[in-house]
Amino acid sequence: MAYHKTEYYDKETTEGLADAYTKIIQLLGEDPQREGLLKTPDRMAKAMQFMTQGYAQDAVAVLNSARFEEAVSEMVIVKDIELYSVCEHHLVPFYGKAHIAYIPNGYITGLSKLARVVDIYARRLQVQERMTTQILDAIIESLNPLGAAVVIEARHLCMMMRGVQKQNSSTTTSAFHGELLNNHVTRNEFLKLISSRLA
Ligand SMILES: [Zn+2]
Repeated sequence: MAYHKTEYYDKETTEGLADAYTKIIQLLGEDPQREGLLKTPDRMAKAMQFMTQGYAQDAVAVLNSARFEEAVSEMVIVKDIELYSVCEHHLVPFYGKAHIAYIPNGYITGLSKLARVVDIYARRLQVQERMTTQILDAIIESLNPLGAAVVIEARHLCMMMRGVQKQNSSTTTSAFHGELLNNHVTRNEFLKLISSRLA
């Protein structure tokens, strides 16, 4: 087989996390030696490292790696980019969709790179508001576009499973720059183009 996908987890980090999760399982009144839970601390250690891998990745470098000179100035929109993140207040998932637009100013980037930037900022301990501006800032830094916009709609399990227990609420955050901030016609065009998806 020519294609191999390998996963690497730092041994020391994995063992340290697994020890802590064993303690957590005990404190929750469970028996970490029970068959079903025996490997859970190790699985959790690896899962949490996977879900926070974004810290080790550079969003601007990813955008720059597929940046090309191109004399277009029409708005580029990528919508419905799935995202899965972890709320930093409860370490419970939130998930939803990101919609990104930018108006090129001499440079374009690979469309898949925009989706990767979403993953890079989602795979951290996050709040939706900060993630929205982080994605926008990376696009501005890499592409210096005439305009840019990021809209994220997400459901937060910390609101659905605990606390106020609102199962059907979703949260929308947005950040705008340049033409997409200041030009109402352009901004409304973007919002209209993604609005079929907005609840
Ligand atoms: Zn939360």
